[in-house]
Amino acid sequence: MKLEHNYANLGAGFSSKTQIQPLIEQRLVEFNQPLAAFLSVDIKSPLTKSLLCGDKVIPDALSMVYAGHQFGGFSPQLGDGRGVLLGEVRGANGLLYDLHMKGAGPTPYSRRGDGRAVLRSCIREYLAGEAMTALSVPSSRALALYDSRQAVYRETPEAGAMLLRVAQGHVRFGHFEYFFYQGKQTELDQLIAYCLTHFYPECQATDSPLESMLIEVVKRTARMIAKWQALGFQHGVMNTDNFSITGETIDYGPYGFMEDYEPDWVCNHSDHEGRYAFSRQPGVGLWNLNCLMRCFSKHLEKDQLIAILQCYEPELQTQYDCLMMEKMGLNSSRQLHDLLPSLLTLLAAEKLDYSVFFRLLSHIKQDHFDTLLDEVVDRDRLAQWLVKYQSARLDQPLNWQKTSERMLQVNPKFILRNYLAHDAIQAAEHGDYLPFRRLLNVLNHPFEEHPESEYLAQRPPSWGKSLEVSCSS
Ligand code: AMP
Ligand code: MG
Ligand code: MG
Repeated sequence: MKLEHNYANLGAGFSSKTQIQPLIEQRLVEFNQPLAAFLSVDIKSPLTKSLLCGDKVIPDALSMVYAGHQFGGFSPQLGDGRGVLLGEVRGANGLLYDLHMKGAGPTPYSRRGDGRAVLRSCIREYLAGEAMTALSVPSSRALALYDSRQAVYRETPEAGAMLLRVAQGHVRFGHFEYFFYQGKQTELDQLIAYCLTHFYPECQATDSPLESMLIEVVKRTARMIAKWQALGFQHGVMNTDNFSITGETIDYGPYGFMEDYEPDWVCNHSDHEGRYAFSRQPGVGLWNLNCLMRCFSKHLEKDQLIAILQCYEPELQTQYDCLMMEKMGLNSSRQLHDLLPSLLTLLAAEKLDYSVFFRLLSHIKQDHFDTLLDEVVDRDRLAQWLVKYQSARLDQPLNWQKTSERMLQVNPKFILRNYLAHDAIQAAEHGDYLPFRRLLNVLNHPFEEHPESEYLAQRPPSWGKSLEVSCSS
């Protein structure tokens, strides 16, 4: 493993030097072998092991400083309150990836926090990163999970843990806000140059590199959120300090994957106003980008910044339509706009499981709809919709069977249901990681059949629908 320290080289104004502070009886309990191979990290080599566990000092390890709009209010200084950036490593694709340990102990940015993370939230983050990656959403991923015998106090004492995570970058919208509102123009320029070099090199050769990069940031963010909406994923805490400049989904806290279709669903029980409700995510994405654009008001004219933001909506809409056409096996947006609104209204009225519905839709035969009709109360209403749907499917060049096969490759059989994560966490808290590994295995291949794990495709039992997730992590 060759650690680089490009972020550290930006200088002292960007971070504070920190080290991993190991937990009591810390153990490596899971590591991501495919990801480790991709990054050429031999997690079992003694040197790597002691670097990653905090036994050996990494002189350039650091915690980043940033700011952020949290639930609409501006916090002028946040930062990695429990995270340490160990450095960057090069992946097999030639790109650099951050190695970042979460739960590594107090940092200068911990404020009132203890700098720690609990096993529950580390497992949730591990599962989410793998699930999203398998569903083609750019995402941070876990490289390793450590548990311990150290108690960490939340509402009750819980098991302390650390998660070694990997992302292309951990530069957040909030990084730019920090330097802009502090009036640190030189640092802002340095950060722009850093992002251009590492994340947007293709924009460097254009007439206006910053403008090109910002257009790309807007488009990547739009595509990311379009994917969330098509999948039924809800982030839960869309603060600007949880939005990456690379367009990757990061900072998995009280997230959720939609089960019963409910457009105004709020997965985060700490979000009392429903600011980050599922249906609001596209709008919040634009709100966050607006916060980001303000940071460049000394670099670009207002009209230019507005024009950049105007790329958001069409990009999101086009991407969403594309994804929904794939999910429904349609090849014209006219047909999509004919069929999708009435379908979503129907799903909401029937409180149908979003993923189960699309999986069943992928399986139905040309002239036999009973498996779907048996799911609903109002059979006539769905039957009418299916007649229109059938004629749209027949009105396209690809035959029914081939279309079905394609739909099965985009409509997952296995999604990360809250009750499944809950079961895996409970077992892990008692030292049994088998349920976690079984779940991980299906989430890594969500479109395939896994006969031995059929139970992991089941809808939640009634207790599993009312589980609460909050910001406590
Ligand atoms: P989050 O809502 O998880 O994105 O966290 C918001 C901010 O609080 C970030 O700056 C975190 O680093 C910090 N934070 C969250 N939990 C802790 C903790 N247990 N100790 C110290 N800082 C924390
Ligand atoms: Mg965060
Ligand atoms: Mg968090």
